[in-house]
Amino acid sequence: MPNKTITVAHGDGIGPEIMEATLAILEAAKAPIDIETIEIGKNVYLKGVSAGIEPSSWESLRKNKIFLKAPITTPQGGGFKSLNVTTRKTLGLYANVRPCRSFFPYVQTHHPLTDMVIIRENEEDLYAGIEHQQTEDVVQCLKLISRSGCEKIVRYAYEYARKYGRKKVTCMTKDNIMKQADGLFHRVFDEVGKEYPEIEQEHMIIDIGSAMIADRPHIFDVIVTLNLYGDIISDIAAQITGSVGLGGSSNVGENYAMFEAIHGSAPDIAGKNIANPSGLINAAVMMMVHIGEPEIAEKIQNAWLKTIEDGIHTADIYDKTDSKELVGTKEFALAVIERL
Ligand code: NAD
Repeated sequence: MPNKTITVAHGDGIGPEIMEATLAILEAAKAPIDIETIEIGKNVYLKGVSAGIEPSSWESLRKNKIFLKAPITTPQGGGFKSLNVTTRKTLGLYANVRPCRSFFPYVQTHHPLTDMVIIRENEEDLYAGIEHQQTEDVVQCLKLISRSGCEKIVRYAYEYARKYGRKKVTCMTKDNIMKQADGLFHRVFDEVGKEYPEIEQEHMIIDIGSAMIADRPHIFDVIVTLNLYGDIISDIAAQITGSVGLGGSSNVGENYAMFEAIHGSAPDIAGKNIANPSGLINAAVMMMVHIGEPEIAEKIQNAWLKTIEDGIHTADIYDKTDSKELVGTKEFALAVIERL
């Protein structure tokens, strides 16, 4: 079988450091992939390309269909449009899958039994990016929800639960207030749920749902929710497992898939060789499963797990009592490679 070519972007902030670590592990694990590198984000904006991505990069993505992406910085409040959002919408990546699991006793957490998968709608909601200055005083931001969009993501969540033997799907919305928009999502959840009688189904209002994730995360299995809520609760869920630096995610559509860490570009720790590369490593594991290489995925996952279990920890999860060795990004990758 020829190698599969994947498109890779090193991003900015801690992106290049965690991507180098991840690619070194993929290479050492003999992942049957060839890499085509594209540049996106800050440097492309600075060249005057307002989309943050050049036409040749779209060609690479359309050709290869699989994208391993490091985080990029999105300017806040003004300036350029989020390239992350553009990529998800352009490639039709409607499902964002974010597993959040505790690795207790190896990684310290107040919530050792956490093992949930957040499935976030990825194309609609307030992230459609439609904002208007109505008057000098008023700004309008549109929340777009479609029945077809709700059906796709809700079905994805039920199918995911069925495929991975998960017992319960919880839908989170704010349909007590947004009765039509969030109401549609909830209604579709109930309708489609009739086709999955073996899976326990429940609904929670997003505010109490978020509180329960922070306090009693072990009660959740699969959660399906709208774009903005999913973005927020998946950071909470990743953080309570010990660090936001641990979580990987996939963004999946009919024809394309993108794999990335849950966290952002962490400019506060960039260039210091201290970032935890685990989120992107776990995303790469999900990518290997997706492209039909489960043995390679398992090999990397086990080596990563062994490194964590051996107490070889980056600063974000290092604990004086329980960790054995404090390492940097590169050294962590080398430790994983030694355990392959
Ligand atoms: P962030 O996730 O980058 O950082 C939040 C905190 O977590 C920081 O203290 C950071 O140091 C820490 N952290 C994050 N990843 C870590 C890692 N791997 N190891 C150790 N510590 C880690 O969130 P932010 O500061 O709100 O966002 C920074 C930039 O990232 C923003 O421009 C934002 O738009 C962008 N962002 C990009 C993506 C993406 O590319 N997919 C996702 C989220 C945020």
